Amino acid sequence: MDQISGLPEAIRHDILARLPDRDSARTSVLSKAWRETWSTFPILSICSDEHFKSEDVTVDNYHSKIDKVIDYVGRRLLRLRDLGLPIKEFKLIMDYVDHKCMAHHVDLWMKMAIESGGEVLHLQLRLPGRYGGRHSPDRFYDLPLSVIESKSLTKLVLMDQIRVNQAFLTHSVKLYSVLKLSYCSNLEELNIDARNLLSFAYEGNNQPGISFQQCSNQLEVNSFSDVDFQDLCSLRKFVQNIKPQKIWASVSLFICLSILTEPEQGAFQVSSIPPTIKRLELQFSPDYEAFYFPFMNYLLSSCCPNSISFSFRSYVHGKAFIQFLYETLMGRKEGKCHCSSSNTKCWWHALKIVKVICTFKIDENADFKTMLDALPTCCADENIGFILEL
Ligand SMILES: [Zn+2]
Repeated sequence: MDQISGLPEAIRHDILARLPDRDSARTSVLSKAWRETWSTFPILSICSDEHFKSEDVTVDNYHSKIDKVIDYVGRRLLRLRDLGLPIKEFKLIMDYVDHKCMAHHVDLWMKMAIESGGEVLHLQLRLPGRYGGRHSPDRFYDLPLSVIESKSLTKLVLMDQIRVNQAFLTHSVKLYSVLKLSYCSNLEELNIDARNLLSFAYEGNNQPGISFQQCSNQLEVNSFSDVDFQDLCSLRKFVQNIKPQKIWASVSLFICLSILTEPEQGAFQVSSIPPTIKRLELQFSPDYEAFYFPFMNYLLSSCCPNSISFSFRSYVHGKAFIQFLYETLMGRKEGKCHCSSSNTKCWWHALKIVKVICTFKIDENADFKTMLDALPTCCADENIGFILEL
């Protein structure tokens, strides 16, 4: 232990950065040097999960449990401020947030992190499931002005019950290199000054119009959609509403359907090839074979992906759907598409190349069927995908 204690502080900080908050706190009992290292560590990553388990929370003990976390966060931040040290990264994941009694604490913590010159801010305020259906306006945390006016932030992640001011998107975002907005309230129109932005991620139930001004050529845009069939109908509009057009080439869509009901009758007809996007990842496959074609039709009428990949938790229906999609793309299946009844051809009939790729090891000459059979069903990380070329 002495040898480790003798390491320069920068290296000890680097070791702490790789540990969960609870374990990094434990290093403070190792020696005086480690105690000092921990108390000057400029990265705070606090998750209420490490302080109490959600299932143990009751109406009676809620305040005592949450107060302990509030006290802990306050002490950690104050110590750094008293030492005149910056809070470089502040990550806060809190469950059971009652905004009425917590907002002023979070406001103060944000202010302290920002005033110290904080560069990374990750704020996730989750409401427990049992309060899920009661999203009245005061259940949202309003991102304070101090964050909006910060000149030091380069990475901002906002998740769950957080409301952001429209002014924030036009004025502050130009400084960031990474921005992630997840289930934030009131986002209908996103107009982002993205001159330094390299990565933008959007996740939500609604599909706002997103436009970027002065965006870098290296900007990557990822959109995670948790949708049902009705939202799928507006997927094309969502993709087309992303401006400017050149950004489409860097857009990746991650589609997760929570409910798949019978699609409405009537073909989803479009008269032109949809925008080409970088990648489409399906995190869901239809349960019933009857849904395969409409589902694929909706997706491929909305976007023209350079690659399609799948990451289903269960491959029970997944494999059958991957096979269906492959055969359709290879032109081996006659679908119920609108080609026959209109002059417009579906673009996927004109595919020149459909290359199958996989993340697991297999003979490079293996055909599609062998690959599909070899797809491990127990591991969601392994997958098969297609590269498409028109
Ligand atoms: Zn067709």
